[in-house]
Amino acid sequence: MTATVIDGKAIAAGLRERVAEAASILRERHLIVVGLAAILVGDDPASHLYVRNKARACAEVGIASFEHRLPGDCGVTEILELVAKLNGDDRVDGILVQLPLPHGIDPRQVMAALDPAKDVDGFHPMNVGHLWRDEPGLVPCTPQGVLLLLRSVHENLAGAEAVVLGRSQIVGRPVAALLLAADCTVSVVHSKTRDAAAICRRADILVAAIGRPAAVTAGWIKPGATVIDVGINRVAVASRPSRLVGDVDFDGARRIAGAISQVPGGVGPMTIACLLRNTLLAACRRRGLPDPPLLQG
Ligand code: NAP
Repeated sequence: MTATVIDGKAIAAGLRERVAEAASILRERHLIVVGLAAILVGDDPASHLYVRNKARACAEVGIASFEHRLPGDCGVTEILELVAKLNGDDRVDGILVQLPLPHGIDPRQVMAALDPAKDVDGFHPMNVGHLWRDEPGLVPCTPQGVLLLLRSVHENLAGAEAVVLGRSQIVGRPVAALLLAADCTVSVVHSKTRDAAAICRRADILVAAIGRPAAVTAGWIKPGATVIDVGINRVAVASRPSRLVGDVDFDGARRIAGAISQVPGGVGPMTIACLLRNTLLAACRRRGLPDPPLLQG
């Protein structure tokens, strides 16, 4: 058996098209230009690249983007002042704080200062609470992307045995909350779990987010299971340029799984598409408009 490969690129492209259509309806019917502000602190080259990519993705779907740079040696007060300014800026529907922040600045303090209605990363404690209470709120982008990939192969997730590998605040925990809300029976595996492989082998749905290259091998997977690989790991191969691999040994796993996402081309493209979707949802909700039907589900 060879697993169906879940095409994250195509699913993300479809979502971006729907975001673009929803943005154009907002512009034409309500004269609203949706805006996303990014805060970039310091000069980490990878962070600069991410913010540039996000600005390009915004432009492609008709969302205005505003980039705010602060020096790496700025204090938390400067960041909080900028957050307060953007919270009050009516052109800004979503605020993105590019992580990591420089050493010594607690990201939780910065996240907690965001207006929860503009918290498009879904990390504000209020949005975390909404997620666990299964209430409407802004859901973190990568976990939302994982759910959309799963929904592309499973119309109904109710009753499925789901195992989430990893319990970080940004991936593992919110994925577990979303799967619970979708009526899965959820287990969360972490570094202190005894016999992780045995627990994973029970899973109808396996989501790997541990940051360990190819750690999940075929022997961890139940025949026919759906496997979503969130991991992004750069590995060096002797005398060749380094390459990106996931947390799952793709070649081994695809021989036993029923459906599987790939790295790259799986969860990665979904994350940015979900950020754009959240920005649209934020723009509607803070003005009391209903969620665009194109973006529901
Ligand atoms: P993280 O904060 O480092 O958390 C890793 C989690 O995995 C922790 O909960 C850790 O357990 C657990 N873990 C580590 N080694 C393990 C092992 N051998 N067995 C079982 N559990 C283990 O990482 P993260 O931010 O969640 O990211 C996870 C991966 O997803 C990374 O590769 C990252 O690059 C990738 N990622 C991708 C996207 C995307 O857009 N595709 C977005 C975000 C992250 P403890 O809690 O016990 O330490």
